[in-house]
Amino acid sequence: MYDLKALYEAESVAHAIQILQEHPEAQIIAGGSDVLVQMREGRRAGKELVSIYKIDEMRGISYEEDGAIRIGSLTSFSHITKDPIIQKHINVLGEAVDMVGGPQIRNIGTIGGNTCNGVTSADSASTLRAWDAIVEITGPDGVRRIPIHDFYIKAGVVDLKPAEIQTAIIIPKEHTKATTDITLNTQCVMQWISQQQDVLSM
Ligand SMILES: Cc1cc2nc3c(=O)[nH]c(=O)nc-3n(C[C@H](O)[C@H](O)[C@H](O)COP(=O)(O)OP(=O)(O)OC[C@H]3O[C@@H](n4cnc5c(N)ncnc54)[C@H](O)[C@@H]3O)c2cc1C
Repeated sequence: MYDLKALYEAESVAHAIQILQEHPEAQIIAGGSDVLVQMREGRRAGKELVSIYKIDEMRGISYEEDGAIRIGSLTSFSHITKDPIIQKHINVLGEAVDMVGGPQIRNIGTIGGNTCNGVTSADSASTLRAWDAIVEITGPDGVRRIPIHDFYIKAGVVDLKPAEIQTAIIIPKEHTKATTDITLNTQCVMQWISQQQDVLSM
């Protein structure tokens, strides 16, 4: 059913890059919700795969030193939706990825896979673009960061060079602050409307 030549399991980002350099034809597999479906359909028949799924340094959500939000590329959709940092600053992203497939797909599917497959209609894509997300890519020449609108080259094609891995997606600080401001403004407007309704009903 799955015509697979070999599966290599990377233990760290550096290890994954090394395997990808040693096996230039190998393809990355993260949660596998796209890759395994394609393999089952015979579209990746006879391929070598490099699993990055066990690389915990690529998983989770945290603040960067400047206050930007760092989302590890292996973070699942379920994790993003429930994460307190996301809920506080960019709840809209949590809501967007909560639309993906069913619970099983949201538990296994990663935000890295959702962007690296180059599907512009992917549920995370429009929100990340609207928030001017930055994509962090790690490869043999080190780490580079590019705006997400440059990462998408065309449908199904992203800016990943040989042996490169997407390691994180960054939401710049100015946007997380904007949310707080918008939230505060919204709360002020709601309070004002509520006060006006009180006045009208008196
Ligand atoms: C039943 C079903 C329903 C689905 N519904 C939706 C939906 O509603 N909305 C939606 O947007 N998607 C949906 N999908 C698609 C899929 O679940 C998502 O695109 C998911 O985010 C893919 O993540 P993954 O970790 O499983 O990726 P994988 O399948 O492991 O990889 C996808 C692609 O990205 C590459 N890749 C993955 N991670 C990295 C990385 N860190 N660095 C470099 N390359 C990488 C892989 O080489 C591969 O080309 C659905 C899929 C299924 C099977």
